[in-house]
Amino acid sequence: MGASERADLVVVGAGTIGGWAATFAARDGAGRVVVLERGLAGQGASSRAAGIVRAQGGTPTTVALGRWSIDFYRRQPEVFGTDSGFRELGYLILAVTDDDERAGRERVAMQRAAGLPVRWVSAAEAANLNPTLSPDGHRGGSYLETDGHIDPARNVRAYSLAMQHAGVELREHVAFTGIRTEAAAGGARRVVGVETDTGSIATERVVLTGGPSLRAVGKLAGMRIPAGAVRHSVAVLEPHDAFAVERQPMVFDIGAGLYWRLEEGGLLFGWSDPNDRPGEARAVDWAMYEEMRARLAGFVPVTRDLGLRKIWAATIDFTPDHLPILGPGMLPDGKRIEGVTVASAGGHGMMWGPGVARVAADLALTGRTDLVDVTDLGLDRFDAAGRSRLATDPIALPFPDSAEDDEPLAVPTGAG
Ligand SMILES: Cc1cc2nc3c(=O)[nH]c(=O)nc-3n(C[C@H](O)[C@H](O)[C@H](O)COP(=O)(O)OP(=O)(O)OC[C@H]3O[C@@H](n4cnc5c(N)ncnc54)[C@H](O)[C@@H]3O)c2cc1C
Repeated sequence: MGASERADLVVVGAGTIGGWAATFAARDGAGRVVVLERGLAGQGASSRAAGIVRAQGGTPTTVALGRWSIDFYRRQPEVFGTDSGFRELGYLILAVTDDDERAGRERVAMQRAAGLPVRWVSAAEAANLNPTLSPDGHRGGSYLETDGHIDPARNVRAYSLAMQHAGVELREHVAFTGIRTEAAAGGARRVVGVETDTGSIATERVVLTGGPSLRAVGKLAGMRIPAGAVRHSVAVLEPHDAFAVERQPMVFDIGAGLYWRLEEGGLLFGWSDPNDRPGEARAVDWAMYEEMRARLAGFVPVTRDLGLRKIWAATIDFTPDHLPILGPGMLPDGKRIEGVTVASAGGHGMMWGPGVARVAADLALTGRTDLVDVTDLGLDRFDAAGRSRLATDPIALPFPDSAEDDEPLAVPTGAG
């Protein structure tokens, strides 16, 4: 990379958000698009996810992002000649308590008003839809037959190929280290370049992603992004005849944050621990695993004696309100950094990722998008302590409430 290098758009991070956003922008004629990835494409959260994809969102915005993303996964073979392994299985979101049921029925009304053909099913109907599910211990739940899952590793392959076909330049093992800005009207700043550990690139457009590292990426750009990172765990049980079927609805025990789905003839299940502190996942919590297995066996008795086939703990991204961040770069004093777009799927990058990436590309190229109303999704919804003025998405895993840490911010380099 020479000192005089120029790009029309620089995207930081080659996860599913950066990968698809770069592809969309290049296909829209953005010109020279460069993606900076400090490691290897997909090696953040995007290759480690459970792959659950649902349009059953907790707000009209997340319903829209989920629907757009499912449509995208379905159209992918035709448009890109690749797929992310999307498989429609249906999704049951269970109510266990009175409160769950009341909130669930309200959610269904909101989703139906948004045009989603979701319905409420009784406990007996739920057990009928999924014969491995006990009819006891829950009160039925919401059901949408068009929800499903992708194969996260296959999605990394899909966006890597798509980037290559679209002419995106992927730079692996190149870390973003900061931005250059100059003064703009009204006391704002305007981006004029990015710094990397191998040189600088002049550019007027930057998309910042980073998943669980987005907070650190923001700091490098002198921004305070209240995005968090915390352990999330996934396990796969050995194959069993009960799971050797083409189709069986996925299930979410929403109160406990425990979900499960078919995986290679066995059952995959995942969970978050509300007592985990924010930070990088380092190890499997076996006590929590046993607790979740016992809870799972209550719902799916056939799992009680099944062996464990694989298990992993990985670092998931989250935002304080569990909603995506999509908007312009912003300095801690509230002034904009023109030309910078920040994009986070807030821990839902499989289900909302393509939609979030599409919006990020739209905002970076044209400053507007038709996909969702982004008025409330920017960084200006957070106060100095990182608290959001929006209500928390009601279908959130039990993550920590705060994403805060105490490290100081970097100062953007460049003219003044
Ligand atoms: C165990 C687990 C299970 C999950 N299950 C689901 C699920 O079922 N459904 C769902 O919707 N979501 C799920 N998620 C969440 C989902 O994986 C993430 O929301 C999504 O992958 C985030 O994508 P991203 O592109 O923002 O981040 P990432 O995939 O983490 O990509 C960010 C990239 O930025 C790079 N980077 C960071 N700093 C720099 C720098 N300074 N310079 C250059 N590059 C940098 C990183 O190396 C990384 O490759 C799960 C996550 C985990 C961990």
